[in-house]
Amino acid sequence: MTDTLPTGATIGILGGGQLGRMLSVAASRLGFKTHIYEPGANPPAADVAHAVTTAPYEDEAALRAFAETVDVITYEFENIPTSALDILESLRPIRPNRRALAVSQDRLTEKAFLTDLGLKTAAFAAVDDAVDLAEAIAEIGTPAILKTRRFGYDGKGQSRLKSPEDAGKALADMAGAPSILEGFVNFTHEVSVIGTRSIDGQVACFDPGENVHRDGILHTTTVPANLTASQKMDAVLLTAKILNALKYVGTMGVELFVTPQGLIVNEIAPRVHNSGHWTQNGCAIDQFEQHIRAVAGWPLGDGKRHSDVVMENLIGADMDRVPDIAKEPNAALHLYGKAETKPGRKMGHVNRITP
Ligand code: AMP
Repeated sequence: MTDTLPTGATIGILGGGQLGRMLSVAASRLGFKTHIYEPGANPPAADVAHAVTTAPYEDEAALRAFAETVDVITYEFENIPTSALDILESLRPIRPNRRALAVSQDRLTEKAFLTDLGLKTAAFAAVDDAVDLAEAIAEIGTPAILKTRRFGYDGKGQSRLKSPEDAGKALADMAGAPSILEGFVNFTHEVSVIGTRSIDGQVACFDPGENVHRDGILHTTTVPANLTASQKMDAVLLTAKILNALKYVGTMGVELFVTPQGLIVNEIAPRVHNSGHWTQNGCAIDQFEQHIRAVAGWPLGDGKRHSDVVMENLIGADMDRVPDIAKEPNAALHLYGKAETKPGRKMGHVNRITP
């Protein structure tokens, strides 16, 4: 197999949520077919894919059958079991590569990787028990945040320590899971960079976006972000450094804290990212198309921004506002087709653009 996929080839996507759905749409615009692998029934991506496999990640036969129908495998989330990846990788290329997954699946490995690259992170220490936690608090101080090393998302698996007296409760919140204590970063605001690297090492980054969270979930992303020209340059260069160090192929999200002492990397996501949804209406080539181009071995597009954008996530009951949003000029709606609205569930987003 050559590295460059021809039109008509099939891209396998692990995960059938909204990210898989939007990847699938981008792939079909370039003439590719997609095959979604998803354990849950009726995933959002199934509406827009050529084929869907509904099976758990432990089903070796289903994994093999899936891999045999696709030309390359990519994914929309990072917590794919290692055993499934071992099977899939023996049959087809996985892009982005395993190292990117291994690094980002575990907050401790991730922080070690980033600091080895010379990038700034919050102070951190591994915590497995009360003794570790007492030592970590002595070293890092409070306020601090205890986080599970794995499987945390949208602020889940985290416990804040205002003072050392909160140690017992924080440890109980981790329910025995291996954890990491992070020093609290006094940031002024949060930004992220969405960057893509191609098979031949070309790197393209979108303009940094400024992110506001509510209840631990991304609420809005605004471009342009409130950054100086040099902060913007720094954000893009450090993203390229991460992409190159991992020999990454595909799109990645890099979340940053902006502080008077410079940019501090919060975390990296080896996939298209919620804070990059603005690119769908702010750029000719969006993060999803860049990802598909990269994993298909195509040259990257120009991700230049042509408009100012505010992306707002539509979460749970925000869906009630859709009829009104649909009447707004310059508001591009992206709904995920989820059957059931639940509090905290991402149902769609809207990009309000100012050309
Ligand atoms: P995370 O799941 O690690 O991205 O954390 C979710 C949110 O919690 C971040 O977007 C920040 O707003 C906040 N947060 C996480 N880690 C820290 C930290 N070390 N210091 C201050 N705020 C943090």
